[in-house]
Amino acid sequence: MKPAPFRIVRPHDIASAVAQLRQLGDGAKVMAGGQSLGPMLNLRLATPDVVVDISGIAALKSVREEPGHVVYGALVTHADVEDGRVPDVGEHVLRRVAAGIAYRAVRNRGTMGGSLSHADPAADWVNALSALDAAVEIEGPAGRRTLALSAFLTGALSTALGEGEFVVAVRVPKLPASARFGYAKHCRKVGEFAHAVGALVVDPTAGTARALMGAIDAPPLVLADARILFGGAIDGDFAARFDAEAAGAALAAAGLADAVDRHIHVEVLRRAVRQAAGLFSPETRSAA
Ligand SMILES: Cc1cc2nc3c(=O)[nH]c(=O)nc-3n(C[C@H](O)[C@H](O)[C@H](O)COP(=O)(O)OP(=O)(O)OC[C@H]3O[C@@H](n4cnc5c(N)ncnc54)[C@H](O)[C@@H]3O)c2cc1C
Repeated sequence: MKPAPFRIVRPHDIASAVAQLRQLGDGAKVMAGGQSLGPMLNLRLATPDVVVDISGIAALKSVREEPGHVVYGALVTHADVEDGRVPDVGEHVLRRVAAGIAYRAVRNRGTMGGSLSHADPAADWVNALSALDAAVEIEGPAGRRTLALSAFLTGALSTALGEGEFVVAVRVPKLPASARFGYAKHCRKVGEFAHAVGALVVDPTAGTARALMGAIDAPPLVLADARILFGGAIDGDFAARFDAEAAGAALAAAGLADAVDRHIHVEVLRRAVRQAAGLFSPETRSAA
């Protein structure tokens, strides 16, 4: 199919984009890399009067390092991260996630801000960055605000963005040297969206763990204190104590009624746990 007719505007700075979005209201749609919006326009699932193409705003491509955080401009592409053109928050943490998104052609254009704003529950940045406790910086008519992803992602394909607002940056905490990250997903074939995602940020030195189970048709289930999945404590032997029943119970409590579905999600989380413990090769990340 072809898209319904629309007009396109190309603001060159953040202030102009805010002004245009405010003026155009509901009839406008932001476009970044176009990798999700393009198909939606073609299928007429989106029929905006005006597309506000933000891809020419240089400020949205910049990256800054702050103590404890890396702040990625919303237009940083999956390929920028995959190729190491921007700093990572830990050794090969985001880089490895980026390399597993779709195909290279999609990664060349798809952006971190676009992926989070699209809020597909199966999307890699939605899950990996939620596991890492990231936040988004949002610009709008009332100025700038920062929202944790847990507050930003309000449902499947739904966010807390208000009228005239758009994501300008993504703040991701740097991992301490003692922390480890595991990320696994289950796809029928490489390049497809995941049916299940599991992630673990664990610090055996600090005795802390944060776990995520995603692609559950809703924002990801995050256990900010995941010690319950490891018999109540984290040490160097955490992977051996992974409690699949506790993980399944957390999913059931979150409303995942299908036992087979729960089993798949728990097993994918187990892979992330083993990866964080250095027992499972990241290269097999999407193997079924
Ligand atoms: C064949 C194919 C396979 C894919 N496989 C995967 C996969 O395995 N894993 C995965 O994670 N993703 C996958 N994707 C999606 C891809 O990662 C997209 O890049 C991403 O979802 C959207 O990013 P974008 O920059 O292209 O956003 P766009 O397509 O431009 O926009 C997407 C939505 O977000 C809004 N938006 C965009 N930027 C902003 C902003 N800064 N502020 C507010 N709203 C904004 C738009 O209005 C639109 O509603 C796949 C896409 C394709 C086409």
